[in-house]
Amino acid sequence: MGCDVSHPQRITVLGATGSIGLSTLDVIARHPDRYQVFALSGYSRVDELLALCLRHRPAFAVLPSSEAAARLREGLRAAGCDTEVLEGEGGLCQVAAAPEVDAVMAAIVGAAGLRPTLAAVEAGKKVLLANKEALVMSGALFMDAVRRSGAVLLPIDSEHNAIFQCMPGDYARGLSAVGVRRILLTASGGPFRETPAAALQDVTPEQACAHPNWSMGRKISVDSASMMNKGLELIEACWLFDAAPSQVEVVVHPQSVIHSLVDYIDGSVLAQLGNPDMRTPIANALAWPERIDSGVAPLDLFSIARLDFQAPDEQRFPCLRLARQAAEAGNSAPAVLNAANEVAVDAFLQRRIRFPEIASMIEQVLEQEPVLPVATLDAVFAADQRARELSREWLRRHGR
Ligand code: NDP
Ligand code: MG
Repeated sequence: MGCDVSHPQRITVLGATGSIGLSTLDVIARHPDRYQVFALSGYSRVDELLALCLRHRPAFAVLPSSEAAARLREGLRAAGCDTEVLEGEGGLCQVAAAPEVDAVMAAIVGAAGLRPTLAAVEAGKKVLLANKEALVMSGALFMDAVRRSGAVLLPIDSEHNAIFQCMPGDYARGLSAVGVRRILLTASGGPFRETPAAALQDVTPEQACAHPNWSMGRKISVDSASMMNKGLELIEACWLFDAAPSQVEVVVHPQSVIHSLVDYIDGSVLAQLGNPDMRTPIANALAWPERIDSGVAPLDLFSIARLDFQAPDEQRFPCLRLARQAAEAGNSAPAVLNAANEVAVDAFLQRRIRFPEIASMIEQVLEQEPVLPVATLDAVFAADQRARELSREWLRRHGR
């Protein structure tokens, strides 16, 4: 493998207007000889998508509705840009699976990204996976599709990209076969790492979204604050590396300099370090197995000076416990956890529930909804829909 200079890789960026999408386009723009943008998608930020189209000149752009698409077409026409605008989930799946595409950045947030991401997998693409919710919801089906299609799945989540870098090349043989004892998944602890339990009642969406180390979209920022992000990442790690939940230990590391570690049976522990900037894992996955400049400043260990580690506090952050339980229950449980979390985070961002109620709501939905096998994508979405309905019922019951 390598870079064929006569054919720059054509990249589809799903979720181009988001935090990961913009970081991806920043890395791509540093290497015009290697990468060319094939398609970009947005959702609510139409003007931003227009500006990205004018800058990167993709063949296609995708928006959710015909109204949004018409607005974008008008802007493109006025600027003399011949990008073709597609609509809806069908458009997303089309640009994810198009024969011209070499790699797809899956950076839509939440369950909405599942079908387009799977379309890229089923078309055998190189899939750069940021949309962890897709894998959490449908892990078994997703990984089966990867094996069947021969897609190359590369993790973008900084922890999973770190683990990937610390694993031997043949880790697909199984963790014990390659001498891995466990995975140490690091967590920053988020903005409320030191906030007393009682004070969590009154934290605001603005405080939850002000992450100390990372600048991210609002949903993942709230997930980081509740530590549900680490719970989703635990499930993500189990699928990506074929690990049992008991083989993944969460380690709170407030500086976010070590992005995760792999503990081998001979006592060696390998870690990947770097400044907390998503352009590093993005560049790593884009160029893999080569290395390219990402624009990230070199790590200055002297200015960091120290690295701290703590055990996570599952009393204050019950989402982590709930996610571990869902990982152990398997089947539909992770999809239910994810859907209830999406509704809860949305309600918290709209100030309809208090921060600790995110966990209460998810816990009750998990208790109400039976764990069922999910052998098809329809079964996954049925579990997702039932969990959303139970979550909305919870809101009604509590008068929100
Ligand atoms: P953002 O909220 O910044 O971006 C989300 C993107 O998805 C935007 O392009 C948005 O469009 C689009 N989008 C939102 N809703 C829909 C929908 N219903 N259908 C289609 N597209 C939609 O999120 P992030 O970039 O922070 O995160 C993206 C994914 O990457 C998440 O799954 C997150 O967990 C994961 N991730 C993010 C990290 C980060 O550092 N940000 C780190 C690790 C993982 P628009 O903006 O136009 O509305
Ligand atoms: Mg992460």
